[in-house]
Amino acid sequence: MADIDIQLPTSMPIAGHIDPVVTPRGVTARPDGKVDLLGLPRTEITRLFTEAGLDAKAAKLRGKQVFHWIYHRGISDFDSMTDIAKAMRPWLDARFVVGRPEIVVSQHSEDGTRKWLLRTADGHDYEMVFIPDADRGTLCVTSQEGCTLNCRFCHTGTMRLVRNLTPGEIVGQVMLARDALGEWPKGAMNGLDDEETEGDYSADGRLLTNIVMMGMGEPLYNYENVRDALKLVMDNEGLALSKRRITLSTSGVVPMMEKCGEEIGVNLAVSLHSVVKEVRDEIVPINRKYGIEQLLQACADYPSASNARRITFEYVMLKDKNDSDDDARELVRLIKQYKLPAKVNLIPFNPWPGAIYECSTPERIRRFSEIVFDAGISAPVRTPRGRDIDAACGQLKTAAQKMSRADQDRLAEEKQAALG
Ligand code: SAH
Ligand code: SF4
Repeated sequence: MADIDIQLPTSMPIAGHIDPVVTPRGVTARPDGKVDLLGLPRTEITRLFTEAGLDAKAAKLRGKQVFHWIYHRGISDFDSMTDIAKAMRPWLDARFVVGRPEIVVSQHSEDGTRKWLLRTADGHDYEMVFIPDADRGTLCVTSQEGCTLNCRFCHTGTMRLVRNLTPGEIVGQVMLARDALGEWPKGAMNGLDDEETEGDYSADGRLLTNIVMMGMGEPLYNYENVRDALKLVMDNEGLALSKRRITLSTSGVVPMMEKCGEEIGVNLAVSLHSVVKEVRDEIVPINRKYGIEQLLQACADYPSASNARRITFEYVMLKDKNDSDDDARELVRLIKQYKLPAKVNLIPFNPWPGAIYECSTPERIRRFSEIVFDAGISAPVRTPRGRDIDAACGQLKTAAQKMSRADQDRLAEEKQAALG
């Protein structure tokens, strides 16, 4: 596809760092009047308990206990919270619930990858993916339903942005994955139950060891909810996953990067995909707002980057677009110029119906990787996973939105006929 000449619309809107998207409030009562505690921090749970009538001391104790049960043990039924007085449990049950995102469909790939289609309480669909490997298991978490950015090689980018996910809907994905994999620590609080062992907390022997914020959406355009959800994931009394095992991927929302490093401190991945202005402007349009130099400077300033915790540059291999020897050399030159502790992840382009690009040839990808590697920068080629269930990078787009108008009409007719 060497001859593609794309006319970029000059008025394409690019969202600024002031989020234009409607975000539902964190604390909302359900139709039955109960408040869902999923996604709330300890302080908020305690505040709700005080508001519901407990005195400050009792609210603090119950807040701490309930927090531990919800996030550390995965328990959502108050009656199973054994260190809470029996009489107290119906009181909680009458006022609160601990929810989970609803599972619409779960799919298993032949390579072991799993994908879940989830639904929010107000009926929006989103996806999460679990990728097992020999030495780790990675959960790919969604931050937005759709995306406001329109990277031209990304299927999610063709979806309309419906809304930001709440902290509960984000942390709920990790909790659902633990439910599905049966991996909650079995130990107890206050030594009332079996003692916990070291192994219950370490990554060894666990299926879910790593989290990547690489599902649908741009996490830095839903910054506060992503931060609040990841705080629950990293809390030692919560899901207790180390920040070293969490990676947040951004397409380059420069003004939020420093804050992300300071307040969350997770590993950073940057969807670079090209170091040539005209090309990056075309394939990652946010580049027209925050250019390559600005982006690389923000990477150099990223608070938790070091040689031990390198920044990952994601680079999707697009035939005749960004895959030449010169592209590879320029990438190396810039990484050195900005003295970045970096590694480059080469992602073979995953095609989808209607995509205007092709994947680079395996020889081209190998050559590109060699040039970067010979300059002393690690440049592994990522193996696509879960392609048979559309779970690979950039393929996430919910089934309903993937269906053509004609298919939707046909389905509606069939449903109508089935109803008689
Ligand atoms: N929105 C964030 C995180 C989600 S995308 C971001 O853009 O960084 C995760 C990675 O998959 C990104 O590097 C993205 O550019 C890449 N990607 C998107 N579509 C792809 C496709 N069709 N083939 C391969 N990688 C793709
Ligand atoms: Fe959005 Fe990331 Fe896809 Fe770009 S690559 S459209 S930022 S999800």
